[in-house]
Amino acid sequence: MTMASIFSKIISGEIPSYKVAESEAFYAFLDINPMAKGHTLVVPKEEVDYYFDLSNDTLSKMSVFCKDVAKAIEKVVECERVGVAVLGLEVPHAHVHLIPITTLEDLNFSRPKLKLSKSEFETIAENIQKELLK
Ligand code: 5GP
Repeated sequence: MTMASIFSKIISGEIPSYKVAESEAFYAFLDINPMAKGHTLVVPKEEVDYYFDLSNDTLSKMSVFCKDVAKAIEKVVECERVGVAVLGLEVPHAHVHLIPITTLEDLNFSRPKLKLSKSEFETIAENIQKELLK
C-alpha cells in the first residue's frame, strides 16, 4: 500500500485547506504559497501522479470543473483572466493551477510568493464559494 499524498490528506480533511469547491471526483482549494490572490489548485480525488496519465474521461470532466472555478475566481479577484498551469514538480498528485493574471510575469513561478493572513485566505475562499453558488 502506498502512502496517501499530501493532496489526498487535504481532500480527506486530515490536513486543513481553504476549500473553494468540491464534487464527487474533484477538490479545489487555495494554494498555500500563492502567486496571486485567488491562486487555486484543482485536484482529482483519484490519486494519480502525472496529469497526462489521467483518463480521457477524468481529464475532460476536470477541464469543465476548472472552468467553473475559474469563472468564479474572475469575479472575485481583479485580473485580466485566469491562467492555467500544470507542473507537478513538487507534489506527485495530479493538479491544475488556476492563477489570476494580468501580465506574463504573473505566471513566473520563480517569483517570490504572496504571504496572506488566515483571514485573507478565508475571505477569498468564501467569496469564490459564494460565486459558485450563484
Ligand atoms: P507543483 O507540484 O505543481 O510544482 O507545486 C505544488 C503546489 O502545491 C505549490 O504551488 C505549493 O505551494 C502547493 N502546496 C504544497 N503543499 C501544500 C499544502 O499543504 N497546502 C496547500 N494549500 N498547497 C500546497
